[in-house]
Amino acid sequence: QRRDPNQPEFQEAVFNFLDAVTPVFDKHPEYIAASILERLTEPERAVQFQVAWQDDQGHMQVNRGFRVQFNSAIGPYKGGLRLHPSVNLSIVKFLGFEQIFKNSLTGLPIGGAKGGSDFDPKGKSDAEIMRFCQSFMIELQKYIGPDLDVPAGDIGVGGREIGYLYGMYKRLRESDRGVLTGKGLSYGGSLARTEATGFGLLYYLDEMLKHNDQTLAGKRVVVSGAGNVAIYAIQKAQELGATVISASDSTGYVIQEAGIDLPTLKKVKEVKRGRMSDYANAVSGATYHTGSLWDAEGLTYDIALPCATQNEINGEQAARIAKAGAIAVAEGANMPSTPEAIAEYQKAGLLFGPAKAANAGGVAVSELEMSQNSRRQADSFATVDGELKDIMVNIFQKSVAAAKEYDLGEDYDAGANIAGFTKVADAMMAQGW
Ligand code: NDP
Repeated sequence: QRRDPNQPEFQEAVFNFLDAVTPVFDKHPEYIAASILERLTEPERAVQFQVAWQDDQGHMQVNRGFRVQFNSAIGPYKGGLRLHPSVNLSIVKFLGFEQIFKNSLTGLPIGGAKGGSDFDPKGKSDAEIMRFCQSFMIELQKYIGPDLDVPAGDIGVGGREIGYLYGMYKRLRESDRGVLTGKGLSYGGSLARTEATGFGLLYYLDEMLKHNDQTLAGKRVVVSGAGNVAIYAIQKAQELGATVISASDSTGYVIQEAGIDLPTLKKVKEVKRGRMSDYANAVSGATYHTGSLWDAEGLTYDIALPCATQNEINGEQAARIAKAGAIAVAEGANMPSTPEAIAEYQKAGLLFGPAKAANAGGVAVSELEMSQNSRRQADSFATVDGELKDIMVNIFQKSVAAAKEYDLGEDYDAGANIAGFTKVADAMMAQGW
């Protein structure tokens, strides 16, 4: 707090983590002696840079770019790039910090990082997006590399943006090695990467439900967001027999009792880059409401999957989720629940899958993409999807085991934090930093 007084999101992420891992220090005083916490909460490197680009009217625009390389104890830095007007150092640091433990939980050799810019892609032409991405990469390329730091997508960064970023990297570095993940299939991307975070969320949820003698089949599910994570969470939930009755964006949400029409949602969001209001106009039986899904009164459902953004659910809204009859919340977005919301879930006895465990599927498949690039091979969809499923089941099991080891009952949040943390701490100790 003293060092970063103006970084509320970063502080929130660190305090959530500290609450969960406190019991570890009684058992491992050597971590205290080695100042593991002090080292973990300070990024190994954080860069901020100017991104100047020309708009379609010929005016020069200036944005701020970031890359925070948090911790490389277990492998090269890995984490997404976010393009959204809200991006600042606090948000990039919270995301990078969470990424350390998420990446550790996957069991794969990747360290934690995050980056992005306060550039707003909404309403920009393709040419403007390209010029921005090229300018961003001219600076970013100084700090990344296939064995050093491999960025991916996040909010506002999908296949189109990764393509423009990668194209510029190759021109600058004359290297065709996989320095970004989430690439197109024709130039080194992995099958199942687009689906990975949403599918992985459902594999994790399925395992959490099974562990509690429940199943997804026949459940009513609400999903927030309508981007990459939300769309593929909806798809897998439907494949597993659930009915998903909602999707949302930052202006409003849609309720559709018969279930979201996935082909239309994909067309509106992925092809036309439209709004949820456009979706509601394109299908029958859907009602559109402005505001937050989590403020909707009178809904009943079994499972809530927040897949939009950080702090989208506060304490009051979490109480409404419990009142709606929910038995489980699993986080597709990063830190979508405030600490007050998590306390409400605990009070109501909901099963809770925290982001750093439940949404780790995206980065896991990104690492599989790195591995395919190094081998110069492309694995089949079934192979990658199968590995993703195994990884997500494993993450849940590791969280359960860690919670048990520390007598924390069925606290999967604490279990995930502890399992992710101890691997990184041991690696730091072993390397004598
Ligand atoms: P996208 O940009 O594809 O989609 C984000 C979606 O969330 C959009 O529909 C956006 O609506 C909506 N949204 C943003 N802010 C709000 C808000 N305040 N209220 C309601 N809806 C909102 O991003 P992703 O799907 O990739 O990312 C979503 C979340 O998942 C983020 O927290 C991200 O960090 C996390 N995540 C993503 C991974 C990935 O592989 N993509 C991996 C792990 C985590 P609008 O269009 O109006 O802005």
